[in-house]
Amino acid sequence: MTSTRESGAQPERPRRDLIALNAHIRACRRCHLAGYLDERESVPIARDPEPDAPVPEILLIGQAPGLRATNEARPFAGAAGEKLRDWLELAGVPREDFWRRVHCGAVTRCYPGRLPGARGDRVPSPAEQLLCRPWLDGVFSAIGPRVVLLVGLLAIRTYLGPVRSLTAVVGTTVERDGILYIPLPHPSGVSRWLNDPINVGTVGRAMATLRGRLQSS
Ligand code: SF4
Repeated sequence: MTSTRESGAQPERPRRDLIALNAHIRACRRCHLAGYLDERESVPIARDPEPDAPVPEILLIGQAPGLRATNEARPFAGAAGEKLRDWLELAGVPREDFWRRVHCGAVTRCYPGRLPGARGDRVPSPAEQLLCRPWLDGVFSAIGPRVVLLVGLLAIRTYLGPVRSLTAVVGTTVERDGILYIPLPHPSGVSRWLNDPINVGTVGRAMATLRGRLQSS
């Protein structure tokens, strides 16, 4: 299928599709009705495209919004978002262009709550992932991404299958149906994987791959 971006058509239709999809996502309460989420702390996060921006060429898929993203109603609102924008700068995407060129999706769109007794958030259950998958499929249809950044093991496994570890997969890429999938760790300080300078270098190489892809069009 030829994407709107490739055909040179104006981005109004994908924009409209994405905005309409986002409205449906923000109204979604499937997991609340099924008893998986508490509406007082978890609401869907879906950010509309920037005014007058081209169709985003990069789709970023994370695990699920964190508490801060939920409180501020925007994805990657905290320090993890800052690090993410640092990484994208290495790939030639200036910070000020981040929201114009990157669309942020997630395996599930609602804050799943804390994992009892741990620092991190709960990983959404397979049932929640299944309930939310149509929204993610809808984003693919709406924007037709050229590059998909898979951030964190849940997003990586959702698209690339049962990979063993971040070390096994970050720094590699998969090309499928004209889309380049680039696995990345979660940029949060909770990820100890990033404490190893070798791994930071691997992320740098992944961003160099992204830069090459963006420059090739
Ligand atoms: S996680 Fe997804 S499917 Fe579940 S309520 Fe939120 S938006 Fe709906």
